[in-house]
Amino acid sequence: MQFKPDLATAVGNTPLIKLRRASEETGCTILGKCEFMNPGQSVKDRAALSIITDAIERGELLPGGTIVEGTAGNTGIGLAVVGASMGFKTIIVIPETQSQEKKDMIRLAGAQLVQVPAVPYRNPNNYVRYSGRLAETLAKDSTHGVIWANQFDNTANRDAHIDGTGPEIWEQTGGKVDGFVSAVGTGGTLAGVGMALQPKGVKIALADPGGSGVMSLLQSGEADMSGTSITEGIGNGRITKNLEGFMPDFCYKVSDEEALPIVFDLLKDEGLCVGGSSGINIAGAMRLAKELGPGHTIVTILCDYGTRYQSKLFNPEFLRSKDLPVPGWMDGTPDDLP
Ligand code: PMP
Repeated sequence: MQFKPDLATAVGNTPLIKLRRASEETGCTILGKCEFMNPGQSVKDRAALSIITDAIERGELLPGGTIVEGTAGNTGIGLAVVGASMGFKTIIVIPETQSQEKKDMIRLAGAQLVQVPAVPYRNPNNYVRYSGRLAETLAKDSTHGVIWANQFDNTANRDAHIDGTGPEIWEQTGGKVDGFVSAVGTGGTLAGVGMALQPKGVKIALADPGGSGVMSLLQSGEADMSGTSITEGIGNGRITKNLEGFMPDFCYKVSDEEALPIVFDLLKDEGLCVGGSSGINIAGAMRLAKELGPGHTIVTILCDYGTRYQSKLFNPEFLRSKDLPVPGWMDGTPDDLP
């Protein structure tokens, strides 16, 4: 018999697939790591498992204990499903602007959901700060342990990629990987994979969406937050503990206008339904491909599954309201019928 003892042990070891059009257009082999194939359908399952395991090992979380976190969604889903599979309760604090699909999924996974207004970090009711306070309060009367996952500054997040994602990419490519590209939310993926692969000679690139200050912070120390993006889960206005001590070789600013057509073509032509951050990543991978020249192999992250964004990214009315291009096929006017 072949089976896993529980869902938590099914996290990771995701396949790498060749992205046909991105590869053809650049003359490189561009590979997507299918993180949407994790049990919670996103890359954040890895951070969730690593943070929980680390807390258990440090004796902070006992069976029946509670995990509290502030999250844009995917970490919440990861903590809820992985936490439930390991016997923990989860409370998730989320900005109310996040997609309904992600909120529903967190609730369906058995977590308690607390919605707060989307306010900047300096506001004490910001979702991250709110969740930290909530964990502190609950910990006072707890007998089984309460942890604040603190994904932004808890480096157990980055460790998941130093020990998991990075080495997996190295093994899957037989060491023949020239570049790696990722956007930053917490920075766990970029810095973790970067720390694993940069010392082996792999060029690491940041793909940063509009409205994020990460690229300018790394380049000049100043946060330039200009621009906007409809992508969720990426962008940041500060250097988190997960990013500290890591410097990518290249940085690219990627607009939604550049990234979203890639997401739509990928669904129509290659059967791949991914979220907006994957589009930012692939656009970044194509920029790195042009920088390195034809014949190179570049890996990027397909962070989560697209159905999570049905009401936004894959909704023509929403796209039009943001002045973003709507592909004909999505609008019920297929452009390639005979
Ligand atoms: N894409 C999506 C959809 C995400 O939810 C996240 C995490 N917030 C990321 C990318 C970025 O991952 P990381 O936190 O490791 O930087």
